[in-house]
Amino acid sequence: MKNRIYLDNNATTPTDPRVVETMVPYFFEKHGNAASRSHPYGWEAEEAVDYARENIAKLINANPKEIIFTSGATEGDNLALKGVFEMYSRKGNHIITATTEHKAVLDTCKKIEKMGGEVTYLEVDDKGLINLDELRAAIKDNTILVSIMYANNETGVIQPMKEISKICAEKGVLFFSDATQAVGKIPVDVVDLGIHIMAFTSHKMYGPKGIGALYVRRKRPRVKVTAQIDGGGHERGMRSGTLNVPAIVGFGKAAEIARLDMEEDTKRIMALRDKLENGLMQMEETYINGTTDSRMPHVTNISFKHVEGEGLMMTFNQTIAVSSGSACTSASLEPSYVLKALGLGDDLAHSSIRFSLGRFTTEEEVDRTVEMLTKGVQHMRDLSPIWEMYKEGVDLDSVEWTEH
Ligand SMILES: *Cc1c(COP(=O)(O)O)cnc(C)c1O
Repeated sequence: MKNRIYLDNNATTPTDPRVVETMVPYFFEKHGNAASRSHPYGWEAEEAVDYARENIAKLINANPKEIIFTSGATEGDNLALKGVFEMYSRKGNHIITATTEHKAVLDTCKKIEKMGGEVTYLEVDDKGLINLDELRAAIKDNTILVSIMYANNETGVIQPMKEISKICAEKGVLFFSDATQAVGKIPVDVVDLGIHIMAFTSHKMYGPKGIGALYVRRKRPRVKVTAQIDGGGHERGMRSGTLNVPAIVGFGKAAEIARLDMEEDTKRIMALRDKLENGLMQMEETYINGTTDSRMPHVTNISFKHVEGEGLMMTFNQTIAVSSGSACTSASLEPSYVLKALGLGDDLAHSSIRFSLGRFTTEEEVDRTVEMLTKGVQHMRDLSPIWEMYKEGVDLDSVEWTEH
């Protein structure tokens, strides 16, 4: 346990102890329902929710009234996409997204297609970026929404948010972004960026799991989404259900810490990421996936040619927690659809590892990771007949492979 190294912060972050501390009273003496209007238990809970909402709004430069609590980003993505599809059905039924989106967006879009919607999936270039001219050309009279994620969970690639929002504003369509991997780690300003709807989640920013938020703009333009969970009319009628007060309190604290510590945290984490990346790139036939010009500061996704990512992970015997492909699809051994969308072949996609650092990553852990990975890759390549052929200068493209 003590020797373990956690470099899978894009899957989930550990909860910050300061967050847990603020949550505890809301399980015990302050256990009220925030919707109870007739006694101090309810008032106390409501006050705590208000304070959290303010902190979360402040982190993204929103108004607290524009924050709708959800169970996480998956629900936020569903509420945004299905909610807009229903609410704006008279205006049109066409949604534009990209092939490298999270499954929570892609699977929801597939469902919307079954419900009579029309979805365009934009491709990305070898850097992982969408093409703005293609986006502009894809917008039609019946287009109601553009859904492009802020930062990719597998590669950390950041899409040109401001340029996308400009195009959406010109054409009069709504702009939704799944900003789960960006919020709390880099400055995100919904006003400056011109984002209309935005989903994010607490457990990717050192808060508890099972709580998230959907930002829904109230002015210029006033945006509405049709509720996907009906009930007591909570959250301005857009998401019913008793609020998870302890989780919301924790989420609020996580947002406050993120805002206050972001600059320093980012500087330190980025230096560690760069150290890790530079260390690993010393090995030959090693490639960074996605652009390094527009990328999250804590992520690097690297392919070690002729090494199976899954096999490589076994060489360090569960000491280092990283991800090959995306955690959400790692139950299957399909190569990552995100990396394939960047144009990687099956071999390079299979040989990729995502390293995502975080607030609690230490330099000593980075050094140990470089050391263990270097040994692991060397070991795997020593055992590999393909690597041997490559070293002997065999043209691997001319070799006929047999299935096994
Ligand atoms: C983690 C993640 C999600 C899912 O968030 P949950 O809160 O776990 O539902 C959605 N989108 C992206 C980009 C993510 O990284």
